[in-house]
Amino acid sequence: MSLPLEREEIQLLTEELEVTIAAHLAWFKQINRILVCANQVNKADLSDDAHLRTHFGQWYYSQEPNTLRENLDFQALGPTQQAMHDVTRLALLEVLDKRRPETELYDQCIDLALRLNTMLRRIQLDIIGELLTTDSLTGCASRRGMLTRLREEQERSLRIQRPCSICLLDFDHFKRVNDERGHPAGDAVLRQSLRFITGVLRKYDSIYRYGGEEFLICLPGSPMKDAWQVIERIRSGLESLPIRLPTGETMYVTASFGLAEMHPRRPVEEAIADADMALIQAKENGRNRIELWTQH
Ligand code: GH3
Ligand code: MG
Ligand code: MG
Repeated sequence: MSLPLEREEIQLLTEELEVTIAAHLAWFKQINRILVCANQVNKADLSDDAHLRTHFGQWYYSQEPNTLRENLDFQALGPTQQAMHDVTRLALLEVLDKRRPETELYDQCIDLALRLNTMLRRIQLDIIGELLTTDSLTGCASRRGMLTRLREEQERSLRIQRPCSICLLDFDHFKRVNDERGHPAGDAVLRQSLRFITGVLRKYDSIYRYGGEEFLICLPGSPMKDAWQVIERIRSGLESLPIRLPTGETMYVTASFGLAEMHPRRPVEEAIADADMALIQAKENGRNRIELWTQH
């Protein structure tokens, strides 16, 4: 699905979908009861705009802004729900006329209602999937699924014949931040630094929390010298970024960077290892600097 969703938005959407699914199932149960037990038919279900009158309809067609609206799976819900109401209306008219709906018609009602339920659940699962691949502290992508996405970038880079660089970023003396200012201060540093860094990155760049205070940046379409310019903007911007701590104090941090170019035919893990070697050099050479991995 790949929606750029904030964590809170994911939670909200998941809950909204849960309520909608429950309401849809309750509606489905009530329709089924009428069809099977010939209970009294609800007028709303016979009307032409029956699809607007249910909880689902009000949610789906509401004018409220909804992040899902652009999503193709979300858009497919509408026609399915309309078709479901159309066949349900026909089946209910049979009951109203004291007849039993044909098996085929009954099956259509059931199938469409269940399909709608499955479609809603799939959207919900995709949204929850976003949670699993997002780091809760910094909001950037987590390590889960990182290698797959890096391999996709590598394939694309081969196809378009443009190099792709990767960079490992590690905060300098971060243990000191925690030791001297406390863990919440360390968290604030990570959160605010990453907000700044993602702001510098270009639209097609991506960043992953590789572990602890270490991040991996993927710079597609960029040979090392182009990537270096982006990373230098991050390095220099970070050292002068005032970070506001929970105590109200301001502090500054730096980071070291190891840059390597992804080889189109070598495993991406090797490029990560190269970037790691460059990062070690950056630390050894005094920190707050970028080193390039140039030996192969
Ligand atoms: P160096 O410059 O060599 O990288 O030194 P360093 O102190 O940054 O290196 P080290 O890897 O020893 O320390 C990393 C510290 O980062 C240790 C760990 O407690 C801290 N850390 C990792 N993740 C988090 C986090 O999510 N929040 C906070 N507050 N601290 C974290
Ligand atoms: Mg560190
Ligand atoms: Mg580290």
